[in-house]
Amino acid sequence: MDIQRLLDDIAATVEPLLGEGHVADYIPGLGAVAPGQFGISVAMADGPVYGAGDWQRPFSIQSISKVFSLALVLSREGDAIWRRVFREPSGTPFNSLVQLEAENGIPRNPFINAGALVVTDRLQTLTRDAAGAVTALLRTESGNPAVGVDERVAASEAANGHRNASMAHMLASYGNLENPVDEVLEHYFRQCALEMSCADLALASRFLARNGVASDGTAFLSPSQSKRVNAVMLTCGTYDAAGEFAYRVGLPGKSGVGGGIIAVVPGKCSICVWSPALGPNGNSVAGVAALDEFTTRTGWSVF
Ligand code: GLN
Repeated sequence: MDIQRLLDDIAATVEPLLGEGHVADYIPGLGAVAPGQFGISVAMADGPVYGAGDWQRPFSIQSISKVFSLALVLSREGDAIWRRVFREPSGTPFNSLVQLEAENGIPRNPFINAGALVVTDRLQTLTRDAAGAVTALLRTESGNPAVGVDERVAASEAANGHRNASMAHMLASYGNLENPVDEVLEHYFRQCALEMSCADLALASRFLARNGVASDGTAFLSPSQSKRVNAVMLTCGTYDAAGEFAYRVGLPGKSGVGGGIIAVVPGKCSICVWSPALGPNGNSVAGVAALDEFTTRTGWSVF
C-alpha cells in the first residue's frame, strides 16, 4: 500500500471540513490557534514515518498526555492504580463533576480529567516530578529532544482551571489524592501544555502498536498492559463520543482539546491527526473524519 499517497489523498478529502467546529477557548492560551490547519502522520510499527499537511507543526497535546501518564504508572507498579480509578466509559463530558461525587470520589476512568488527576497524583508520588516524567518519556519515544511545555498555555490553564481545581479538591475530600492539590494541578496542567507535532506523537504512541515495546527495543509495558491501555482508549478515549468514534474509526484513540487525536492499529502502526476545530464533545472534527477515511480505505481496524 502506498501510505504516502493515501495520506495526501486524505488531507485533500478532509479539506472542505477544515475549520468546521470551534477551537477550544475556555483555555485562553489555546483560543488563538488558526482553526483551518490539518496534519496527519503514520508511524509503521517497525518502519518508516509518513505525513501530510501540517504534520510537523507542534500543537498543544492536552488530554493526549493522559495516555502517557497512565502508561508510566502502569509500567512502574502494575495494577495498583485501578483501586483509585475505574475503567468504565463515563458518558459525560471530560470535565464533568457530577459523577465524581455520586461515586464517592472514584473517577470513572483515567482519561476524563478527574481520573487523569488521580493518575498524575500517583505519578507524582512515584517520581516527584510527574510532568517531567511524561516529558522525558515523550522525548525518548518521539526521538525529539525539543519536546517541551508551552509555558504560556500552562499558565493560562492554571489561571482558568476552576473546574479542574474543584475536581482535585473533591478527590482530596474523599482521600483520593496523595499529594497537595496545588502540586497535582501544576503537574497536570504542565503535562497538558506539552507541545508536539503529529510526527512526534505518532512515534511516541508506537509502543502501543508494538505490544508495549519501546523505541529502544525494551519492554516498556507488557503485551497485556499494552492491550489494556488500548482497550481503555477505545472505550473512554473520546469521552461521551467514544461510541461514535468506535463506530466511525474502529480503533483505540485518544483526543485532546488542542485538536490532536492519536489512534493505534495494534501490530501495524500508530497514527496522529491534528486539526484545531472541535465538535461538541471536544474531539477534532476533521481529525475524526480523517481517521474514518484512513480505516475505511485501508481496512485497518480492530473490528
Ligand atoms: N487541559 C484540558 C483540561 O483539563 C484537557 C482537556 C482535554 O484535552 N479534553 O480541561
